[in-house]
Amino acid sequence: MVGEAKLIKNRVTKPVSRDDLFHFIKSAISNEQQQTDPFYVLDLGAIRSLVETWFDNLPVVQPFYAVKCNPNPAFLKEMAALGTGFDCASLPEIETILSLGVSPDRIVFANTCKPESHIKYAAKVGVNLTTFDSNCELEKIKMWHPKCELLIRIKVPETSGATFKFGSKFGALPEEIVPLLKAAQEAKLQVVGVSFHIGSRAINFHAFEDAIGAAKTTFDTAAQLGLPKMHILDIGGGFTSGPKFTDAASAVKVALQKYFPGELADGNLKIIAEPGRFFANSPFTLTTSVIGKRERAEVKEYWISDGISGSMNFLKYDHDEVICTPLIMKNPTCKELKTWSSTVFGPTCDAADTVLKGFELPELDMNDWLVFHNMGAYTSSRGNDFNGFKTSAIPTIAYEN
Ligand code: PLP
Repeated sequence: MVGEAKLIKNRVTKPVSRDDLFHFIKSAISNEQQQTDPFYVLDLGAIRSLVETWFDNLPVVQPFYAVKCNPNPAFLKEMAALGTGFDCASLPEIETILSLGVSPDRIVFANTCKPESHIKYAAKVGVNLTTFDSNCELEKIKMWHPKCELLIRIKVPETSGATFKFGSKFGALPEEIVPLLKAAQEAKLQVVGVSFHIGSRAINFHAFEDAIGAAKTTFDTAAQLGLPKMHILDIGGGFTSGPKFTDAASAVKVALQKYFPGELADGNLKIIAEPGRFFANSPFTLTTSVIGKRERAEVKEYWISDGISGSMNFLKYDHDEVICTPLIMKNPTCKELKTWSSTVFGPTCDAADTVLKGFELPELDMNDWLVFHNMGAYTSSRGNDFNGFKTSAIPTIAYEN
């Protein structure tokens, strides 16, 4: 069984205001002589507020935070203290979560294809819930962790308009479900439920209705095959924070009521989710310094201390997300200043390392700063060390309101 996740509330849950954040960043910069390296600020109050929002809107769905989205230690520690579960994709992620004192039953090993050594490790430490979508995975689990409970991951209709879709790689096709369930049955493995993911950065939440409907069909199929009654539904990730979350939560609640009314009433269905972006994105702010400057025709060009090979790697897929504020050290009233069409480059020798183009900015000088907001999801965790600019070494300062 999967461990309980519930909100443990004992501290301030208010996110920091923009003014206070800037004040904090300025003092962090001026405390460090000649500081030009990038750094993150982590708003601990924002994490608490998001966990509260989750439980207010989806009290029946237990969140298992997707560690891959941002494995920052201070962030994970806060999530663990707040009582969430964790979705781990690998041995090192499991190790990290267990090292925080989290019990193994608060972990779902949500990777459909796991190296054998990682399965053996899960068996050793008692992580007893994982996903699968192939015969090969069943064979490995039978060999190394036969007591593990299984969720069959199904491919769901790609109707969510997500920026990142998973269907080409993950999830059993409708015609593969019966053979996989039979194979598990023959191998005496316990398939206890269904998982899916509608895609990351989803915008159309009726996709949850399609997906939960497909999950219900799979529950029925398993019952017809004579498997023990399934009792876990894992609705994956795909959530974003802000106003869209209430739409997503409503769609989930409507679909659960439509397809699992009996189970909701008798409490015999455990419903979990694997949100990453929802929790990690807004609590992190990235602060980068201007390390170079040039002027070409009417365009001002700047180099900053982090870029596309680092925290801004998501810009390869998605340009809508940039929320950037200049922090001018000598003139704090920059709001009134004239702005210029500007290009902002990252620090590496790759010409594609261009963070912003045609972006209106006041004139910046060396050692002014650009502050990027909502920078926690798939930023530091996906950056690399190209040219020796080490994304993983960017420090994080935790901010307590
Ligand atoms: N679960 C699995 C299996 C994933 O692959 C991902 C993202 O890649 C997530 C959860 C988290 O998704 P999101 O950040 O959209 O909530």
